[in-house]
Amino acid sequence: MPLPWRASTASSPIRPLWNHEQPRRLPGSFGDPAFLQMPKSNLHAHLEGSIRPATWWELAQAQGLDLGIAPEAAEAAITVDGRERGLADYLARMSRTYPVLRTGEALQRRASEAEEDTALDGII
Ligand SMILES: [Zn+2]
Repeated sequence: MPLPWRASTASSPIRPLWNHEQPRRLPGSFGDPAFLQMPKSNLHAHLEGSIRPATWWELAQAQGLDLGIAPEAAEAAITVDGRERGLADYLARMSRTYPVLRTGEALQRRASEAEEDTALDGII
């Protein structure tokens, strides 16, 4: 069974951990409201794969990197939602975040935000 935030159906696109504005519709037993109240642990997450789009954009600007897209296109450029054309497309989206995470300062910010995001998701 896929992890809740990796669920991919036409009616339930993947939502990254940082999106706290929309309630999750989880597949199968994960949809049980009692499940949502249960404490959870995060066994595996990629800092580059769950970066906040705003952070990605801000770090690129601070580092003088040209992402080649407009700010309003940042989220779509790195969000994986199940509509990718295959593994190469999926990996291309993920790899767009790598260039901004090559400094200690950037990694420290990203790790701090990951901690905040998982706490907001109820992950202990
Ligand atoms: Zn992994």
